[in-house]
Amino acid sequence: MDRQGILIVVSGFSGAGKGTIMKELLRRYEQYALSISATTRAPREGEKEGREYFFKSREAFEQMIADGELIEYACYVGNYYGTPRAYVEEKLSEGRDVILEIEIQGARRIREQFPDAVLLFVTTKDIDTLRERLDRRGTETKEVILQRLMRAEQESEGMEEYDYLVVNEDLDECVMKIHGIIESEHQRIVRSGELIDRVRKELKRFSKGE
Ligand code: 5GP
Repeated sequence: MDRQGILIVVSGFSGAGKGTIMKELLRRYEQYALSISATTRAPREGEKEGREYFFKSREAFEQMIADGELIEYACYVGNYYGTPRAYVEEKLSEGRDVILEIEIQGARRIREQFPDAVLLFVTTKDIDTLRERLDRRGTETKEVILQRLMRAEQESEGMEEYDYLVVNEDLDECVMKIHGIIESEHQRIVRSGELIDRVRKELKRFSKGE
């Protein structure tokens, strides 16, 4: 790909359907690369090492922090989560759009370090739907669900810090909307410097009669 990759942050309340949306984006379009985070949370049933997460002990995670291996990390409902640096840098340099599915503290750290990153927030249309989805998923205890809903309340305070808000009512529509946003971002003038330079140079040559 001859265009510059974009760093994309996708946040949203637990249960908003981010995971499913990401899977579908990746399945449909080759341009995306999804960063796999490291975490100290225990694997859920069906989760595989290196596919959903790199599962780490607290000590191993703290070592990664000390070694500067993470672009950002945060604590979420009692566990560490962080983004490994190497993969993100590699994929961006290949021109891929790299997606980080991370919570809000991480999103803020990314904004500081990568001002060109595009930040999306995904939500359900209402909170009843969110609770229903968390209950239906059945992977968390009642207590953890409650903690996650409380965390959602805190996170809602930061929604204005994002660039786009996407409501996930229908998966297909939501995936198309997100892809549309990213494609529009690629067309922004600030990301088109190289093309503009080339066009100008060619026009100069042409007007000189070369
Ligand atoms: P879950 O336990 O449901 O997989 O993830 C819990 C929260 O951690 C979600 O909001 C998810 O987006 C966030 N998260 C996952 N990986 C990372 C990461 O690398 N950094 C940060 N800051 N948050 C993450």
